[in-house]
Amino acid sequence: MSSFVVALDVGGTSMKGGLVTRSGEVVLTDRRATPRDEGPAAVVGTIRSFIDDLAAAGGGAPAGVGLAVPGLVTADTALYSANIGWRDVPAADFVPLDVPVMLGHDVRTGGLAESVLGAGREVSDFLFLPIGTGIAGAVILGGEPYGGTAGWGGEIGHIPVFPAGEVCACGQIGCLETYASASAVGRRYSARAASPATAEQVAALTVSGDPLAVEVWGEAVEALSLALATYTLLLDPSAIVLGGGLAEAGPLLSDPLAERLRGRLTFRDAPPLRPAALGVNAGMLGAALLGWRAAGIPDAGATWSLDVLKSPRVA
Ligand SMILES: [Zn+2]
Repeated sequence: MSSFVVALDVGGTSMKGGLVTRSGEVVLTDRRATPRDEGPAAVVGTIRSFIDDLAAAGGGAPAGVGLAVPGLVTADTALYSANIGWRDVPAADFVPLDVPVMLGHDVRTGGLAESVLGAGREVSDFLFLPIGTGIAGAVILGGEPYGGTAGWGGEIGHIPVFPAGEVCACGQIGCLETYASASAVGRRYSARAASPATAEQVAALTVSGDPLAVEVWGEAVEALSLALATYTLLLDPSAIVLGGGLAEAGPLLSDPLAERLRGRLTFRDAPPLRPAALGVNAGMLGAALLGWRAAGIPDAGATWSLDVLKSPRVA
């Protein structure tokens, strides 16, 4: 068997690829633009040639290929992605070589990596919550991501938190994502201050006591505390793992959020909030785990060292 797998994390704007050995060494990483504007066939073609090039750089056919993709997905078919526009693409179509392949949902695959290798390594039931342009979640039960009946499981960003609130891009009213995603924080501050600001700038303004920033930041925390109280009461997680751009704010987000969450829960403890451990590499590392699973080595990640994985190798 080959000594490495090819792992790809396919996003709407770019894809991260890597070669990962059975002992968890990330020997090569690379990044390519996702040609979304050219249509789904072009995206599939780019994935194929990216995999081919990574395999060639590794010196031959990999033991397996793992792919993290957006939208609805099963282990062997990319069913649908509004973002990329594909429908019912068989896993084999992505891979130019005759090697085993396994697909996974992008956020759930990142959650798998946090579960096996990262912030969820010591616990088996947690929520992985990346807060970025949008808010997605990976429900981790028994160490594995749970996708639900049709693959919609974990869409915590579209839990209604303010029922009389703003209309979400999804068409529902008052979704968490409308108040607490990084884009929402930037957008909502910009609208009130009548000057553009990113979530990062709003965070800095919050620290300096800017009243509008404090208000917008507080509303994001409030929205998150409502959704996390719901999640906690429903699934009794061991931890909530915060990731994505907004979590870069660290204690500025997690301290008031932990306090607000504790305040909402009367008859039980609140689960601890933990920072994600794998950052932007989570999807690619999760895809590597899928690649090894496809190759028949389901427990490949058990011995991988976090220190190696945290090294900032992804271009
Ligand atoms: Zn929504």
